[in-house]
Amino acid sequence: MNAKTQHTRRNILKSTLGIAGLAASGITSRVFAQQARGPGRPAGPGRPAAAALPGTQVVLLGTRAGPGVDLKRAETSTAIIVDGTPYLVDCGYGTVRNLTAGNINAQRIEKIVFTHLHNDHTTDVPALLSLQWTGGRTKPIDLYGPHGTERMVRAIVEYCKVDGEIRTVDEGRTARIEDLYKGHDVEATSKAVDVFKDERVSVTAVQNTHYPEHSLAQMPHRSIGVRFDSKTRSVVVSGDTNYSKNLVSLASGADVFICEIMDQATRDRWLEQVKQDPSVMQRASVARHVAETHSTPEDVGRMAAEAKVKLLVLNHLLTNAGTTSPAAPLIEGVRKFYSGEVILGEDLMMI
Ligand SMILES: [Zn+2]
Ligand SMILES: [Zn+2]
Repeated sequence: MNAKTQHTRRNILKSTLGIAGLAASGITSRVFAQQARGPGRPAGPGRPAAAALPGTQVVLLGTRAGPGVDLKRAETSTAIIVDGTPYLVDCGYGTVRNLTAGNINAQRIEKIVFTHLHNDHTTDVPALLSLQWTGGRTKPIDLYGPHGTERMVRAIVEYCKVDGEIRTVDEGRTARIEDLYKGHDVEATSKAVDVFKDERVSVTAVQNTHYPEHSLAQMPHRSIGVRFDSKTRSVVVSGDTNYSKNLVSLASGADVFICEIMDQATRDRWLEQVKQDPSVMQRASVARHVAETHSTPEDVGRMAAEAKVKLLVLNHLLTNAGTTSPAAPLIEGVRKFYSGEVILGEDLMMI
């Protein structure tokens, strides 16, 4: 073991210089995860299954930002496992595969919450639901999210029904797909509303700032941040968002705050594009969307500090460097405002 690996993760994360030094030497956040004792352990085969542990565990199933496929990070999804029962927040492409990689039984998922319905948060839902039915599931599953969730789930049921008709005739299956999957639209407001409550968790949500005012005025779609409170832990997932006062209130005092992040260079690049063509700000465009609707490291640090969260986990990494972004520029911005513990999220990290 060399001198660097003798650092505890906590010590490394406390020091911006430490992070910068490690990043410069090519040691990435995955090493922090592997060194971790406690929060930030990798989940997966050969390691304790989160579902077998008491208390509340978080497993990051997908940590990339935006629609796309790469081999390092899956699209966004987070599992929150309470006394062995998994709940899912978002379900982007790669979620189903990473549930298997993380030793989480997809058949046991009974409740899914969507922060919003951009496809990088929903693409694997048809795969998950159809696999649950062909896997023999007969108990209903509830899916919650902003306006449009109920309609999206109905459409997925229609998709599943074609396969269902064949297998019902050919394999003698009896469970009716339309009885299994129920979508529920959740209100998005500045005050926290109940999403659902059961014997293990209470889940609440607020509207965040992923959709700007001029877009909200033209559509019924909304975006939310969600909070899970169990007996042992409180976990908040920001969803995609710019700085949000509502989110700060929702995350107040949380044990774990999982927040999206976009590096400053990425925002600067999109703003530069806007500067060269100012008409972009007058119309809908990808450049404007990216520049306006995500959080820079400083935004994330401010929210974490104002909410006084105990642990900040950086997620949905949107950077010029793609999915292999060095940690230093992200952590440095956060550190201007937040001095607590920070983890750079990786797929299959258990927290
Ligand atoms: Zn997204
Ligand atoms: Zn989004």
